[in-house]
Amino acid sequence: MVKLVLVLGDQLTPEIAALQRADKSRDLVVMAEVGAEAEYVPHHPKKIAIVLAAMRKFAERLRGDGWQVAYTRLDDPQNAGSIPGEILRRASETGATRVLATIPGEWRLIEALESVPLGIEMVEDDRFIASHADFENWADGRKQLRMEYFYREMRRRTGLLMEEGAPAGGKWNYDHDNRKPAKDDLFLPQPLRFEPDAVVEEVLDLVESRFGANFGDLRPFGMATDHAEAEAVLEHFIETALPSFGDCQDAMLSGRPFLYHSLISAYLNIGLLHPLDVCQKAEAAWESGHAPLNAVEGFIRQIIGWREFVRGIYFREGADYVQVNRLGHGRNLPALYWGARTDMKCLSEAVAQTREEAYAHHIQRLMVTGNFGLIAGVDPSQLHEWYLAVYADAFEWVEAPNTLGMSQFADGGLFATKPYISSGNYIDRMSDYCGACHYSVKTKQGEGACPFNLLYWHFLDRHRDRFSANPRMGQMYRTWDRMEPQRRDTILREAEAFLSRLDAGEAV
Ligand SMILES: Cc1cc2nc3c(=O)[nH]c(=O)nc-3n(C[C@H](O)[C@H](O)[C@H](O)COP(=O)(O)OP(=O)(O)OC[C@H]3O[C@@H](n4cnc5c(N)ncnc54)[C@H](O)[C@@H]3O)c2cc1C
Ligand code: SF4
Repeated sequence: MVKLVLVLGDQLTPEIAALQRADKSRDLVVMAEVGAEAEYVPHHPKKIAIVLAAMRKFAERLRGDGWQVAYTRLDDPQNAGSIPGEILRRASETGATRVLATIPGEWRLIEALESVPLGIEMVEDDRFIASHADFENWADGRKQLRMEYFYREMRRRTGLLMEEGAPAGGKWNYDHDNRKPAKDDLFLPQPLRFEPDAVVEEVLDLVESRFGANFGDLRPFGMATDHAEAEAVLEHFIETALPSFGDCQDAMLSGRPFLYHSLISAYLNIGLLHPLDVCQKAEAAWESGHAPLNAVEGFIRQIIGWREFVRGIYFREGADYVQVNRLGHGRNLPALYWGARTDMKCLSEAVAQTREEAYAHHIQRLMVTGNFGLIAGVDPSQLHEWYLAVYADAFEWVEAPNTLGMSQFADGGLFATKPYISSGNYIDRMSDYCGACHYSVKTKQGEGACPFNLLYWHFLDRHRDRFSANPRMGQMYRTWDRMEPQRRDTILREAEAFLSRLDAGEAV
C-alpha cells in the first residue's frame, strides 16, 4: 500500500533520509506550505520567501526525478493549515495509513508528528557529521561540554585539515589570529545575487500579500533558491572572501553587512548545501594555496564544530530547553529590536541590516544585539523568538542554543564558560560604529556615556553572587571593586535611569 513520505521545508535534499527509504514507484511525497509554520513567530518576509520558493523548485526537481509529489500551496483553498492536518488530508485521499518522515529539527514539530493518529516512522536526519548517538557518546560522563574538544573529534572523524593524524600546521585552532578590524575599501567582496525568476516572483507576490506587515523588507530579493544557485554562492565566497574570512571574522563596518562572511547558513539549514561538501571545498582552497590556513580552519570550525555542537546540545537538552532563564531576566524586548529609533549606532546598524537582509553576522548577533539584551536583562524567551523570526537561517535547533546558551547564558553556562558581555570598548575595537554614534564610547559615566559602559557594570553588580567566583571574571570584579564607591554608585544610578527610559519606550 502507498506510504506518505513527508518532506519539510528545511529538508530539501534529494538524499534526505526519508526519501532514501521510500519507493519511488509506489510512495507519495507530501510537501505543504502551511500557515502554522509560516506564522508561529512573525518570520521575516525574506525567510518565508526563500523557504517557499526553494520548496516549489525542489518539488519540481523531485517530479523530474520520477517521484509522485502531492504539493500544497499556502493559498490552496483545501490547505489544512498545519503539517499534521495536511498528512491526514493526504491519507484520507489516498487511503495511506503509514507515513515516513525525517526527524524534524524542532521539538515542537516532532511532538506534532507524534500526535498524528497514523503509523509514523521517523528516521534520523543524516545530513550532519555527528548523529544524535555520536553526540551523546561524546557528551556522556563529561563534566563540561566544550565545543573545542568536540570539534577535534570531528576533525579526526572527517580527516579535514589533518596530516598523518595531527592537525595541519600543528595547531587545532587559529582563532588567536582572527581578531582584526576590517578596512572599508572598494575591494570588499560583493555578495552574489540572483534576479527573481517566475517561480520566485510568484512567491514574492504571495508573501507580500500575506506577510507584508511583518518586520523586514521583502524586496529586493536576491537569495539562492535552488541547489545550483546555492553552490554558486559557495564558490563565489571561496573565490572572493574566504582568504580574508579569518582575519576579519569579528569585524563590523557601517553599511557593509556581509564583509568576508559566506552567507550560506540559510542554504545549509534548508538542505541546498551539504556541510561536509562545503568544508571539503574550503579545504581544497587551502591545499591549492588560494586561502591561508587560519581562514580555512576558522571557517571549517564554524561548520563541523559550532554547527554540529549546538545541534547536539539542542537535542540533548530536550523540548524544555527553550524555556531556560537561569539569570532570571524579565525585561520586555525593547522596541528598538523591531526598528524603533535608537541613538545607539551599533544597534541601529545591526537592526537596520537585519530588516533589509534577514542577515547579521555572528559578532553582530552575539556582541551587539545579544550583548545588549543580556546586560539590559531582557527576557531570554523574547530574544529567542526575535532571533527565530528575523533571520533567514533561523531554525530552532541552531538558533535556540546560540541565543539561550551562547548569547544569553540563560542555561546557566551549559557550554559557555562565561557570559559574552562587553562594554563599548570591544565594539569600538572591532567596528567603525562608535565614531558615528550619538554616545561617546570613551565616556564611562555622565553626559553622553555609552550605554554599554553603564549596563556592563550594572550586569556584573547585579549578578555578583553568581559570577564573582568565576576565574574568567575575577579581573572584571577586581576592576569594579577598585573604583571609588561614589563612582560605582553614579554608574549604577545612570544605568537604572537608562533602563527606566528603555522600559518607558523612549528612544534611547
Ligand atoms: C544569538 C545568535 C543566534 C544565532 N542564530 C542562528 C540561526 O538561527 N541559524 C544559524 O544558522 N546560525 C545562527 N547563529 C550562528 C551564526 O551567527 C550564523 O550561522 C552566521 O552568522 C551565518 O552567517 P554566514 O553564513 O555568513 O556565516 P559564516 O560566518 O560565513 O560562517 C560559516 C558557517 O558556519 C556556521 N556557523 C557559524 N557560527 C555558527 C554558530 N555559532 N552556530 C552554528 N553554526 C554556525 C554557519 O552554518 C555559517 O553559514 C546565531 C548566533 C548567535 C550569536
Ligand atoms: S558608543 Fe556605545 S552605543 Fe554607540 S556605537 Fe559605540 S558601543 Fe554602540
